[in-house]
Amino acid sequence: MRDVIIVYSGRQFSQEQQDAGVANNSSYRCPKCSSPHSVGADRIFDGRLMFRCARCKICAIVQSSTSTDESYLEFLDKCEDGGGAATTDDLRLLMEQEKIIRPKKEIDAFLAGLEGKDPLLEEVLRSDRDYVVDFRSLEEPPPEYGNDVNSMPVDEGIISVLKAKGIEKLYKFQEEAIKKILQGNDVVITAPTASGKTEAFCIPILQKIAEEVSRFGSLRAGERGKIMAIFVYPTKALGRDQMPKITELAEPLGVRAAVLDGDTPDTERARVLESPPDIIVTNFDVIHYHMMHRTKFSRALRTAKFLVVDEAHVYTGVFGANVHHIIARLERLASSKMQIAAASATLPNAADFCKALFGREMQAIKGRGRRGRVNLAIIFPSLRSHRSLALDILKEAAAKGKHRTIAFSNSHLGSELLAFYAARQGVSIRVHRAGLTASARAGVEEMFKSGKLSAISATPTLELGIDIGDVDAIVSNIVPVNRLVQRIGRAARRGQEGYAFLALGNDPISQYYKSHPDDYLSDQEFAYTDPENPFVKEFQILAMACDRPVSMAESKGAWDTVQKLVSRGLLSLEKERFVPDFKKAMAVLNSYSIRGIGSRVDIKLAGKIIGDRSLPQALEELHQDAIYFLAGRRYRVKALHFERDRQPYAELEAIPYDYPYYTKALTDEWPSILEVHERKKVFGIEVAYCSLKIQKRVLGYANVEIGQEAAQGKTKVMFDQPLEYEFFTKGFVFRAPRPEETMSKADDEEYVEMSAFHASEHVIIEGSAMITGGASQDLGGISLGSSGLIFVYDGSIGGNGASKVLYDRLDKALGRALRILSECPCTSESGCPRCTYSYRCGNNNEYLHKAAAIEVMNRAVEGEATKIGDDEEIQGDRALV
Ligand SMILES: [Zn+2]
Ligand SMILES: [Zn+2]
Ligand SMILES: [Zn+2]
Repeated sequence: MRDVIIVYSGRQFSQEQQDAGVANNSSYRCPKCSSPHSVGADRIFDGRLMFRCARCKICAIVQSSTSTDESYLEFLDKCEDGGGAATTDDLRLLMEQEKIIRPKKEIDAFLAGLEGKDPLLEEVLRSDRDYVVDFRSLEEPPPEYGNDVNSMPVDEGIISVLKAKGIEKLYKFQEEAIKKILQGNDVVITAPTASGKTEAFCIPILQKIAEEVSRFGSLRAGERGKIMAIFVYPTKALGRDQMPKITELAEPLGVRAAVLDGDTPDTERARVLESPPDIIVTNFDVIHYHMMHRTKFSRALRTAKFLVVDEAHVYTGVFGANVHHIIARLERLASSKMQIAAASATLPNAADFCKALFGREMQAIKGRGRRGRVNLAIIFPSLRSHRSLALDILKEAAAKGKHRTIAFSNSHLGSELLAFYAARQGVSIRVHRAGLTASARAGVEEMFKSGKLSAISATPTLELGIDIGDVDAIVSNIVPVNRLVQRIGRAARRGQEGYAFLALGNDPISQYYKSHPDDYLSDQEFAYTDPENPFVKEFQILAMACDRPVSMAESKGAWDTVQKLVSRGLLSLEKERFVPDFKKAMAVLNSYSIRGIGSRVDIKLAGKIIGDRSLPQALEELHQDAIYFLAGRRYRVKALHFERDRQPYAELEAIPYDYPYYTKALTDEWPSILEVHERKKVFGIEVAYCSLKIQKRVLGYANVEIGQEAAQGKTKVMFDQPLEYEFFTKGFVFRAPRPEETMSKADDEEYVEMSAFHASEHVIIEGSAMITGGASQDLGGISLGSSGLIFVYDGSIGGNGASKVLYDRLDKALGRALRILSECPCTSESGCPRCTYSYRCGNNNEYLHKAAAIEVMNRAVEGEATKIGDDEEIQGDRALV
């Protein structure tokens, strides 16, 4: 019998810590000093094992075997012949040479010159279990100042407000924005939060309103009864937060601003509508609702001349597509075209993204803010799992260091697992992610804001909308650098230092950044949206008809959609106009959320809805018997109710605390091309961007052991009847070159060929986050057997624009894929989790061939020509996902 408590380096590991991968070592008898339990084994990132005795310091690295016990025998052999064994004094050197840890001198150099450093850094950088890939302090030069405020072409009232705040000079970017907006241009401003963005758009718009107001002569504010500007914020809380800043500038000019959102009490709402303010602060949900219900507020909105959209980066994906149509509907009702000012803290592709979102060219203005020092460390876990590393940093930062901390994971499951383990180890942490109820999320935000909670475990996309102010530390797996640093910068501005930890893991991107840290600092995040999403369009055209009947001329631009709505009995043609059946239309629209596509599975526990999950992902996570994580707890799916024409829901039940597994779905998918929108050549490869139909099946699931960072499940369970689902989306397709050389040397050519394509598909998708900045979760992929056809598609129904970003940069993606594969030192035929494996593989990471995939990628970047072919050729014998 082996002991449960393991002693290693003077530390004791409980069962739970072992669960979390804190220690994956067992204890053995030492061949040299004969202590019974002094030898521990650490698994090195490349799969080998490092044995060492805590007593006499003998140690050795051995190749991995099927079991640790077997490797131990090899360790004994090495100790016996003396050749392979060393003592721990040499071990450091050995580990340094193997790039398991960084030489002490180099860590010293990293930390040199840092004054008053937090023990947190010492602790993390000198852990001796990780490789410090990079450490640097990010400091931005202070922003450039422009001219004296007195020389601005704006009202005296504004100038005196600024002077009263001690502002003598504006920043250059503010000056530029003010000038351009005054000239009537549509502008997008990107500058860090708290750098004066609000002033940059407020001053010129207030000035323009004031000019208009002065034409009304003696009328006091509020008596004019016309909304001049609409200021939109993504959440109620953010809008209300900004009110004091807006009124501070507006009041001296006699310009009135008021909030109208879902929280506005009825009496206040009545007052606002009775005498509309010059500026209304609201959100798109409210605008959408009032327009389609033709309320008094929607009539008041029609006089608006200016639209301000702050935090524009939030409107990505399906939400952005809805916002695009809501703005178009607003302009349709308005008496004149609105001038738009957008702002964001982070939007590297501001001009392109805003063109898609607003449907017009915007002038981009970039500003810098004052920001304190952010210490950025990129850490690769050499002797443990990613999660164990992230947990350790999280504990140090949140608990001991008392830093307000956010931990990012790139998937729902990742954020749940991290919180699950951290909570077990005493960190006060909560999960914040999509799929939890809005009130649950608001509760978490409130607790964090008020200091009752020291950490939040979130997914990066959701983080954008969280209203929690500054944080001091961020721990994250792969997330773009601007996202990592953005929130911290503000805290650091107050003179504190901020900490950003990129905790790499056992995946292709981590391996890539381990050897190319500079690329991490230059890789960018792109915001994307696709207003042409046909499902969004259907709802929005229906809503538009509710706003006001659609004329024949207007219907031309969306003829197919209009006809579809007519055939469903939602619209009918009356006197040359398309008019809605209000009762039916409202039944459809009232259950539609503009923040995500409507198709979702509700999650119920004891009859109560406690969350939801969007399709198609819901099928993989909520099938019968799936283990589902929700808000840091595990449940089993008792039943999934998935019937035609009924809102689907999953019933959960509690499971024992120590239940050893969670589940991973086994799936297959079949794509069909519906329409090709665009074709191009990447190197010699023809690539088409198209509308797709995906038929998805969940065939069963594999049980994955808790605490094991395994990409492959232990036991498989197949369903008698697979779950089937069909959806439409967008994506691209190309035919990968055949790996003929590798095939010619193999016994089973067909196996090698399809495994090469399957592996290629994995690497492109797993690496995509480096190219797009988004989560690879936003994409799906299919490799069609030995045909070489590879499909990459948007994971949201109808499309969210993610695959288009990758399509536009496919040359870079193929280059990265080749480097990931060829630089990976693993020697197994199928590859490893750091090159060919995918954690989301529906085929349990079977059918993978590394060498053949390298040949495929080599041929691709060297310009071998391939064609997609005709419809008949677009089929393979087997679809691998
Ligand atoms: Zn010993
Ligand atoms: Zn590998
Ligand atoms: Zn796969």
